[in-house]
Amino acid sequence: MTTLPDAKLYIDGKLRDATGGGTFDVISPWTGETVGKAADATAEDVNAAIAAARRAFDTTDWSTNTEKRVALVKKYRELFEANRARLGDLAVHEAGAALGAVNKAHVDMALDGWDDYMAVFDKIDWEVDYGEKPAFGMIHKRLGLREAIGVVGAITPWNVPLYVNIGKVVAALLAGCTVILKPAPDTPGMGAIFGELAKEAGFPDGVFNVVFGADPALAGEMLVTDPRVDLISFTGSTGVGKRIMEQGAPTLKRVFLELGGKSAKIVLDDAPNFAMDVGMTILVFHAGQGCAVQSRLLVPKSRYEEAKMILQGAYGQFGDNWGDVSNPAHIMGPVVSKRQMERVKGYIDLGKEEGATLLVGGNIRPDKGGGYFVEPTCFVDVTNDMRIAQEEIFGPVLVVIPYEDDEDAIRIANESSYGLSGGVSGSHDRAMAVARRIKTGSMSVNNGMCIAGDIPFGGFKASGMGREWGVEGIEEYTDIKMVAWPVGMAEPA
Ligand code: NAD
Repeated sequence: MTTLPDAKLYIDGKLRDATGGGTFDVISPWTGETVGKAADATAEDVNAAIAAARRAFDTTDWSTNTEKRVALVKKYRELFEANRARLGDLAVHEAGAALGAVNKAHVDMALDGWDDYMAVFDKIDWEVDYGEKPAFGMIHKRLGLREAIGVVGAITPWNVPLYVNIGKVVAALLAGCTVILKPAPDTPGMGAIFGELAKEAGFPDGVFNVVFGADPALAGEMLVTDPRVDLISFTGSTGVGKRIMEQGAPTLKRVFLELGGKSAKIVLDDAPNFAMDVGMTILVFHAGQGCAVQSRLLVPKSRYEEAKMILQGAYGQFGDNWGDVSNPAHIMGPVVSKRQMERVKGYIDLGKEEGATLLVGGNIRPDKGGGYFVEPTCFVDVTNDMRIAQEEIFGPVLVVIPYEDDEDAIRIANESSYGLSGGVSGSHDRAMAVARRIKTGSMSVNNGMCIAGDIPFGGFKASGMGREWGVEGIEEYTDIKMVAWPVGMAEPA
């Protein structure tokens, strides 16, 4: 049986147990068994992490010594490289990543994203020349100084924990902030390794801290409500995102939110490869647990029957090739927890009650092991007003909706509270025209890849605010200070 190393807190430069020694179990999504122990941070521990981050920001040269910062973040990156195998193990045994997915979204894409951050860092304008302007008889020279915002609370989910942790921690550290990382209770190990390697890299005490606990809300709420924290960078569900905005209001907290999605993939009737476009939408990678997955497939009514047959074929070909922890070809494993499995099953039952037709799947699969296995599932005859078309299921459940024409497809795609990603396939100009009208943070045209570490990612509407990754992702952790000084007399008017 796999055992993961104990997940320790990292506070003020020390790797340590929780005050009082409390721990909680880390459960494998594959077996439902305990695979590790994590320190259960108390309010006292969270308080100590906030105090350390505040002190490090206010009293050290972390925010101003760019050379030192970049050198340490580079060294930190090398240590992550040396620990690739352990990162992979954590993705598998905490987050339930199948081996064929580990070296994609879980580890490779995450570390590539880190490299992209390092590469775009030089493009940030730390000083912006706003030129000269006359006022009150004088000419004034204006300069914008970009500065780190301060102490960042980074609250992250369990689905792709390395990717999201890097998205926040590396950007905030590069920007010159001090950071408290708060990973989800399901994936504390992927947070703890950030602490261990920060210690090894030699970060100054307090610059970076990691806290986690069994209670999903305790540490996060403390970060959100504490006036010593300047910015909350949150990735997670829209419900918790709203609560963070509310709870952050009394201290006018800056909030940067990456939330849920229910993104639409529109296949136009002139898609260059209609069968491939429909077939590749089967929602199986990481059991559909991705915020940016295209979980609503929109196909033309005129080709709906054909699309159903294509999907049946694609799911048939995928077959039962999932759910084996030791198979390197598998890209789909369990969902993360019993709670998540019950939630997904609840949506499957709801889809049936709402009158949608199950094309494939629909079952929990205990035969796969003691963990949380839901089989690939596809509903057809779905209308966009059904809850299974409107709510984020966060499991391997695709819904297929017919549309009349391009206008109808655009209407359906936009009739969603979310707007995180999406796709359209068709002849280029027509697909581009559709893409321009979808209210969403990213839109893939003919399967173009618009998620990468050197370009911004984020949501419209209930999918969030702010952008992660790219130059924009680092600038989220900065603010502009204007300075101006007189350089001469203005010409009389
Ligand atoms: P979640 O909202 O339940 O939890 C996210 C994090 O918030 C966890 O660390 C949790 O402990 C913490 N938290 C819970 N209650 C809190 C509170 N009251 N105050 C402060 N923090 C609190 O989400 P999850 O179930 O861990 O992750 C799945 C969700 O994340 C999905 O909705 C998914 O779409 C979203 N997600 C979004 C992106 C993106 O980039 N937009 C990426 C990955 C996941």
